[in-house]
Amino acid sequence: FNVPAPKNEPVKAYAPGSPERAELQKTLKELRSQEIDVPMYIGSEEVRTGNKKPMSPPHDHQHILGYFHEGDASHVEQAINAALGAKAAWETMEWEQRAAIFLKAADLLAGPYRAKINAATMLGQSKNAFQAEIDAACEFIDFLKFNVQYMTEIYAQQPPVSGDGVWNRVEQRPLEGFVFALTPFNFTAIAGNLPTSAAMMGNTIVWKPAYTQIYSAKVLMDVFKEAGVPDGVINLIYVDGPTAGDIIFNHPDFAGIHFTGSTGVFQHIWKTIGENIFKYKSYPRIVGETGGKDFVIAHKSANPKAVAVGLSRGAFEFQGQKCSAASRAYIPNNIWADVKKYLLEDLSSMKMGPTEDFSNFINAVIDEKSFDKISKYITEAKGAEGVEIISGGNFDKSKGYFIEPTVIVTQDPMYKTMQEEIFGPVLTIYVYNAEHFEEALELVDQTSPYALTGAIFSTDRYAIEFATKKLRNAAGNFYINDKPTGAVVGQQPFGGARASGTNDKAGSMINLLRWVSPRTIKETF
Ligand code: NAD
Repeated sequence: FNVPAPKNEPVKAYAPGSPERAELQKTLKELRSQEIDVPMYIGSEEVRTGNKKPMSPPHDHQHILGYFHEGDASHVEQAINAALGAKAAWETMEWEQRAAIFLKAADLLAGPYRAKINAATMLGQSKNAFQAEIDAACEFIDFLKFNVQYMTEIYAQQPPVSGDGVWNRVEQRPLEGFVFALTPFNFTAIAGNLPTSAAMMGNTIVWKPAYTQIYSAKVLMDVFKEAGVPDGVINLIYVDGPTAGDIIFNHPDFAGIHFTGSTGVFQHIWKTIGENIFKYKSYPRIVGETGGKDFVIAHKSANPKAVAVGLSRGAFEFQGQKCSAASRAYIPNNIWADVKKYLLEDLSSMKMGPTEDFSNFINAVIDEKSFDKISKYITEAKGAEGVEIISGGNFDKSKGYFIEPTVIVTQDPMYKTMQEEIFGPVLTIYVYNAEHFEEALELVDQTSPYALTGAIFSTDRYAIEFATKKLRNAAGNFYINDKPTGAVVGQQPFGGARASGTNDKAGSMINLLRWVSPRTIKETF
């Protein structure tokens, strides 16, 4: 099996006048002007329940993009049965054939489906063209290609010692049962990676996306079908989370969950699985990437402009709806005035509006629930003592769920927006005494329960080394002189610890190994 070493998918710029921009604009128009009807995909069936729910762009919530058919508990049962029914043929298929199917999916996304998956992500999840390209096209293509690379390495691994009439070998079996992929709204690539990475290793899947990501999930499903993923290997259902969980976590063949979402939901799921542990044939694999409260700390030696750019990009790209988004910052008082000046300058150039206008950098947050939660933090900050809003602070949901990029400065390093995940365009800054760097590092480490991403800015090698050691457990992805976002598959395996997840590093061999249960065979002659 000779696959060329993968390379990261080049990011298209969508520059004015470019053919890719024209094609994307045309596709956006097409998708906006039609009302699609989205079934569930269970086994070989397209299931239409008639219980239709509307899908709308978050930046234009009165516009209908189409309807999806919501299912109930009986559809969860059907999806489990379809996954179990498809299992024997899928797991005995040569792994090279499974790999070929997912490489074909990558090629379809890179070529004929690129504009469609980007347009679906722009309209359904309110991302600008460049962000959709990075997420739905490039990152997911990279997940597929690099996972195939890791897969070839896993299947090639054998015990180093055999001989003298003994042949030792290890067979990488998929898990016994079905795998549940429970996926978040915020990244199309993550939603696609959770079912496919487990499926690649021979598992069959029940996939439940967030309701706000169904438009792009449907396009991905079209790609999987066209690439040759057999019926029943990935079953896509739209059933509310607790109803799905109730059936799945009580099922004897439940073999594992591949989750990305909030910490509270994951903890609830883990507890439910623990309570049901005696019902299962095997100990289920529990893999979950969860919330974050990601930090930026600057040292007194840092370049103020670099810090400001790291903050504005790290906090506000993707409306801050990125698990890795910078949301708390610790800036020394000696450079604060300059950092503030550059930050406010950069923010003033960020235009906000619908995704269809390519000049807008900031789009809407995902839905009314998120809008209300985020705007409540801002409203509270407006009235709080020792807290000042230095940029943004306005929000409006009359047409779309728009929230201005908002910067809060607090005199209290334990203020709630320094501790809690907001998951929106809100950055809180604490200005510390430049001579007390070590105390500031303590604050970074102790203020929040999360440990997903973080960044240090400094030009002093000693300070960098000191912070890197001191913050060893504060982030699963640590950046030096860069924003704490933008991990690239194949370059920076991604995942956090503490309350941020099981740290099984999406897009790595570590993750794929969670989806196999090896059998060791010793044969004597
Ligand atoms: P969420 O937890 O609300 O939902 C995730 C999935 O779980 C959805 O499909 C949802 O319908 C389902 N769900 C919700 N409650 C459920 C329940 N009681 N039982 C069963 N299923 C249930 O998360 P979200 O709002 O879609 O995504 C945002 C969150 O995801 C943020 O906390 C963010 O930090 C996190 N995230 C983490 C990473 C990472 O790599 N660490 C990446 C992306 C997003």
